[in-house]
Amino acid sequence: MTGGKDHRIIDRPSSPARPRRSIRRLAGLAAATTLVLGAPVALGANNVPSQLPGAGVSAPPADSGVAPAPPVATTPAASTTPAAANTPAGVSLAFGAAGADVKSLQRKLRMKRIFVPVDGKYSVKTRAGVRILQRKWRLKATGIADAALLARLGLKVRAVASTPAAAPAVFVAQYIKVFPVSGPHVLTDSWGDFRASLRGQGHQGNDIMAARGVPVVAVADGTIKRLTRQETGLGGIWIWQVDNAGNEYYYAHLNDIAAGLDAGSKVTAGQQIGTVGNTGDARYGDPHLHFEIHPGGGSAIDPYKELLAADPQRGKSG
Ligand SMILES: [Zn+2]
Repeated sequence: MTGGKDHRIIDRPSSPARPRRSIRRLAGLAAATTLVLGAPVALGANNVPSQLPGAGVSAPPADSGVAPAPPVATTPAASTTPAAANTPAGVSLAFGAAGADVKSLQRKLRMKRIFVPVDGKYSVKTRAGVRILQRKWRLKATGIADAALLARLGLKVRAVASTPAAAPAVFVAQYIKVFPVSGPHVLTDSWGDFRASLRGQGHQGNDIMAARGVPVVAVADGTIKRLTRQETGLGGIWIWQVDNAGNEYYYAHLNDIAAGLDAGSKVTAGQQIGTVGNTGDARYGDPHLHFEIHPGGGSAIDPYKELLAADPQRGKSG
């Protein structure tokens, strides 16, 4: 990394900011689970279900246009969430369901000139009607009104889980092995925040607020690529590290750098490389570590999820 990157950084967070609430954690609840709403309906002699609803049918999750973030923390299925804006991915109406949601579906089908009874019972007739609509829309004729189909019909179905939600996936950090600040701190997701001297470019890292002198440690095994002990540019006293896979990390506003380190020095994850300070353009603000991740040495990514996953204080502080 030659030239310039150190000039991009400005950091003057006004205060140990309010951590943005766990929006990203909540974004992860989309584990696809087929849910059947309501109680099974009593069927006439001819209405023998050929298969249980949902069994063996994998409905694709609705594409809301929002890339689902990997789930970070345990979030139970949306059973208690009041009136979600859209039917949660994975929620579907299927044979055997009954109730107001089925009735709404039936009305929508009739509006499409598919004349099913409006009786609130997802019987063979309703299933057949859904299949007709699916063929018409060139979808797989499953007879199950999945979240995507419901959304396309303008229907919002609230999930009432009748099956336990799938075990939540755990976010696994790809880059960070050890949290970069070894001591009390406040992690904030300040990615993209406005910084006056970046002239329109959003903040390219996260700020970790901590007292001056708290140790800063390498997040992964690797090599020091560049560093400066003289205040240089917006980052002040800073270190660029590259890990053994070629990913790069930027630690800025350091108070000082550990003795003996220089470009080319090998470091191991957790090894102290400096201390928290407020050098560079952070000189009038509170001490903090400005931290960036550059996968493969390319553009920075929002390091928040990585930091959160590695944060030993996770769940103990804001
Ligand atoms: Zn920063």
